[in-house]
Amino acid sequence: MSHHKVIIIGSGPAGLTAALYTARANLAPIVFEGLQPGGQLTITTDVENYPGFPEGIMGPEMMDLFRNQATRFGAETRFEYVTKVDFSAKPLRLWVEDEEYSCDTCIIATGASAKMLSVPGEDTLMGYGLSACATCDGSFFRDQHVFVVGGGDTAMEEANYLTRFCSKVSILHRRDELRASKIMQDRALANPKIEVRWNTVITAMHGDPKGDGLKTVTLKDTETGESHEEAIDGVFLGIGHRPNTDLFKGILDMDDNGYLITNPDRTTTKIEGVFACGDVQDDYYRQAVTAAGSGCSAAIEAERWLEEQGM
Ligand code: NDP
Repeated sequence: MSHHKVIIIGSGPAGLTAALYTARANLAPIVFEGLQPGGQLTITTDVENYPGFPEGIMGPEMMDLFRNQATRFGAETRFEYVTKVDFSAKPLRLWVEDEEYSCDTCIIATGASAKMLSVPGEDTLMGYGLSACATCDGSFFRDQHVFVVGGGDTAMEEANYLTRFCSKVSILHRRDELRASKIMQDRALANPKIEVRWNTVITAMHGDPKGDGLKTVTLKDTETGESHEEAIDGVFLGIGHRPNTDLFKGILDMDDNGYLITNPDRTTTKIEGVFACGDVQDDYYRQAVTAAGSGCSAAIEAERWLEEQGM
């Protein structure tokens, strides 16, 4: 079993910023990058709202820069997924399958993942005509017609991006008003390839994952209650995210939506030495820059806590 002063779980802006700060404090952090190294920004295109990049930057490129900056000061990143934690005693213990690690402080930055609709057919057709990532899969739908589900910024961004490839993009929104920010709405609504179908939800997806994949979906009008089946080439989900907190169930406090609860204006949790930062504990701002900021806070709090303990 190897022991470390700081172990960071997660490698988005929060985790890698915590890594940068703890590395520069000579704490030699280990970062377990998880199932999506670099986090959610690696499945996005242009990041236009991160300060310091006036022309914008591609999400994956930005996360490579974050990682390089942290490792330059001695952070070690591992492409591994933490499968179990035990925070009931000190030192804190973590497992990657059968391999055990211990640490004095743990910084949780596991982020959030795309939400699913939970309708019949969705599970089996994911990756076969159904996607939650336009950047990853958009080019497979060249000159085709796709649906994008959702009315928030993610849905607008996905829809706009998909018009680079697709002949037509129909946004399906369950209400008659979009949730997205004004600038994102305007951009989408001004795009001649995009239409919005109001008050519309998907209630089932049909197709054979072993054959041609997704072929049709059942659409329901939320006002009239009427349903019909419609042929479509692809469906992209853009309905928000859920926090990646399964690992901490019964161990750390969570709100009703599963977000970790930290102490007011702090990254401390109810367990001493365990800190949480980024989207895993933030369902309000959910921005790369706020995640990075809270990663910095977690690192400083971890460093001060270690100092107070004389570690
Ligand atoms: P949001 O929670 O903002 O929006 C989710 C959308 O999906 C809502 O319109 C919601 O409908 C709809 N929805 C949720 N569940 C279902 C369901 N089961 N069936 C049908 N529709 C559903 O999430 P986003 O991911 O869009 O955005 C999250 C945050 O990230 C926001 O703060 C956003 O500003 C930010 N963001 C910023 C970007 C940028 O600046 N470039 C890009 C992407 C996101 P309803 O409106 O009825 O609740």
